[in-house]
Amino acid sequence: MKPKSFVNIGSLIRFEEQSLPIKLEVPIESFNLGGEKVEVNSPVNFNGIARRISKGIQVEGKFSAEVFLNCARCLEKFKLKVEGEVSEFFALADYQAQLPEDIDYYLIQAENIDLGPMLKEQLVLAIPFKALCSESCLGLCPRCGKNLNKEVCSCQESKLKVKSSTSKKK
Ligand SMILES: [Zn+2]
Ligand SMILES: [Zn+2]
Repeated sequence: MKPKSFVNIGSLIRFEEQSLPIKLEVPIESFNLGGEKVEVNSPVNFNGIARRISKGIQVEGKFSAEVFLNCARCLEKFKLKVEGEVSEFFALADYQAQLPEDIDYYLIQAENIDLGPMLKEQLVLAIPFKALCSESCLGLCPRCGKNLNKEVCSCQESKLKVKSSTSKKK
């Protein structure tokens, strides 16, 4: 059985059609990114189009996925929706030798393009560096290490007391 990430583009290769709409859900396994584990919660959704161009196929579209990341501030796991746009070239193997060295491309396999590696790469690029669970995440107490989104530690309480006493003076 063909993997779910394969799309048959035989009709485009033979110029029977010029374009082919693609709507696909590709399961992607969890992976490591900069030492952090990224859990991919849902299949990556792809909605786009494949077009026959000289020497191959151009694939354009949008993708989205849900991942679990660890917050850079409080270290808790949180869910993030990641989206992005894709425009990638899939080369016909016959033309591979003629392609300039400095272009990035994927190879067409027989009459199929495999969107799996492409979507994984795009997903990795779309994940923000040092993502936060929320813009207002309070992070960990630098003194005792407690998660300040969940509880107020005693170090924090003493800080608050200082604040309220100074505001009384006004
Ligand atoms: Zn956080
Ligand atoms: Zn503390």
